[in-house]
Amino acid sequence: MRMILVGPPGAGKGTQAGILRDKLEVPHISSGDMLRAAVKAGTPLGKEAEAFMSAGDLVPDSTVIGLICERIRADDCQRGFLLDGFPRTRPQAEALDAALAELDVQVDAVLWIDVPDDILVERVIGRRMDKKTGRIYHMKYSPPPKGLTDRLVQRKDDTREACRFRLEKYHRETRPILPYYRERKLLRRVDGNHSPATVTAAIMTALGLG
Ligand code: AMP
Repeated sequence: MRMILVGPPGAGKGTQAGILRDKLEVPHISSGDMLRAAVKAGTPLGKEAEAFMSAGDLVPDSTVIGLICERIRADDCQRGFLLDGFPRTRPQAEALDAALAELDVQVDAVLWIDVPDDILVERVIGRRMDKKTGRIYHMKYSPPPKGLTDRLVQRKDDTREACRFRLEKYHRETRPILPYYRERKLLRRVDGNHSPATVTAAIMTALGLG
């Protein structure tokens, strides 16, 4: 199954992708994680992306398209994949379709995790990641176990200011991909303003697997 998770920053895409990857046994491809790894490794692509990312801006389409379209050609993606954070613009959606058409396959479902803006800002600024396992916590809503505090990191773009900017970008650049997929009858809206378990159940129902 080839799935896409779309949603604003803090909607829970990363959390749900981790759960779905295990349930559906498909690789989780996060454009944000791939870009952060490139920044950390200091590759030319990482150097190009870094300033955009710390400002909460989108990395140019050509850079991200190349990265993801190469990744989905890998052997482990033959049985399907779960894209998280890509596509985020209309040109990215079109480039993905073209790359999949070359492989003679297509997207099966686009899951839109919808959450109101005021809730997202609070979710994002309280978010922390365990740098050892990659697991995501929230200091108020999903606190980490005691003794883990030293391993927790906050993303540079998880400040109130960068979050507001990312939300603005989401509404301006990413929401226009929703009608693109709605027209193709692939879009499934899921209410993301619930606990992770409830959202997972809604996703499984939306996929006809609940
Ligand atoms: P994320 O982890 O999905 O929130 O992504 C973190 C940051 O990486 C974003 O704020 C962008 O700067 C960049 N990024 C991730 N995916 C994309 C994409 N599909 N297009 C452009 N920039 C992206």
